[in-house]
Amino acid sequence: MDETQLPHIVRNTMLPYGQQWLDEEDIAAVVEVLRGDLITQGPVIQAFETKVANYVGAQYAVAFANGTAALHGACFAAGISQGDEVITTPITFLASSNCILYQGATPVFADIDMNTYNLDPGQVELKITENTKAIIAVDFSGQPVEMDRLNMISKDNDLVLIEDAAHSLGASYQKVKVGSWADMTMFSFHPVKHVTTGEGGVIVTNNKQYYNQLQLFRSHGVNRNPDEMLNNEGPWYYEMHSLGYNYRMTDIQAALGVSQMNKLDQFVKRRREIAEQYDRELAGIKGLVLPYQHEGSNSSWHIYVTRWLPEVLNGTRKEFFEALRNLNIGVNVHYIPVYLQPYYQKLGYEPGLCPNAEHYYNTAITLPLYPRMSEQDVKDVINAVRKVVHDFSE
Ligand SMILES: *Cc1c(COP(=O)(O)O)cnc(C)c1O
Repeated sequence: MDETQLPHIVRNTMLPYGQQWLDEEDIAAVVEVLRGDLITQGPVIQAFETKVANYVGAQYAVAFANGTAALHGACFAAGISQGDEVITTPITFLASSNCILYQGATPVFADIDMNTYNLDPGQVELKITENTKAIIAVDFSGQPVEMDRLNMISKDNDLVLIEDAAHSLGASYQKVKVGSWADMTMFSFHPVKHVTTGEGGVIVTNNKQYYNQLQLFRSHGVNRNPDEMLNNEGPWYYEMHSLGYNYRMTDIQAALGVSQMNKLDQFVKRRREIAEQYDRELAGIKGLVLPYQHEGSNSSWHIYVTRWLPEVLNGTRKEFFEALRNLNIGVNVHYIPVYLQPYYQKLGYEPGLCPNAEHYYNTAITLPLYPRMSEQDVKDVINAVRKVVHDFSE
């Protein structure tokens, strides 16, 4: 690359890798709830649940305090308990695996596909034993995992399939929106995700039994349905049949969620535009691997992950990362393989368990991507990547 073609990059502030986009409409929706009588478990929760269910094409939705609590609820509803094994991916946020531990079960890590960085269904099959109860698959970066194959594997082996779709709200697989492929699907509404409620999570399902279990679990396991009670001592009476938690979302959060959901399509569209621009303008750079799109999947682009090959670029991932940060590009790394965490190491998981995941981790850098980025922000990222590649290619 010719040095004179490299524009000078001057940013005074760090560009974050992700960020929410709230406007006056969102703020007004929250204030309206604050002025009312019910600030938690009022009517807006249900409005939010209906909105999410309708959007993703699922029958039922249950809102939780956050995505992690929602995953815990899904594990409970699936009947995951001590002695069970649950197969999941190491390349994910801790919560997709921790929720298995919450239920006293054992996470079993299967390796990833080196093109999509998603769970490799072939590797999942190899990990199935007589104790396997469920699969928790993650749509890493916003690209749906191969749900047709995972569904078939689950059916053949009588497993519950849970989809962690924290990255993939608005994405589709074989032209069907994420939300009806799995037995239960989790969406997160943390501020870096596609739309936000501050903290929040939702499980969608088409299964009435799971729906009932999820509702009990989020509120202390307390049942108020007279048809399902063992006794009925009066109008004040309620019964607890299972151990639940207080995992409820507030109406304040749900109001923000309803308002944000109105913008989801617009946000996803902008994310796709930015990803396309990165694809176009960073194509053909030696030593830089851009995201691969699996046939049939339409990503909603939670993150844009690049891989930097040290054998080609004369540097280490840490050096590339720091060089980008020095240009005020807030790059990040998603993720450290879960089983390499000290807590998991103490549980007996050993390095080398998933070679693809570890190789991936050692070369990955996430570029900033969120709808509110300006044209200039996007150009700054592109120019910074070109400059750092150039500097290390000398
Ligand atoms: C964000 C995230 C979660 C957890 O969601 P919270 O709402 O932050 O609890 C779980 N899994 C993945 C892959 C995530 O990115």
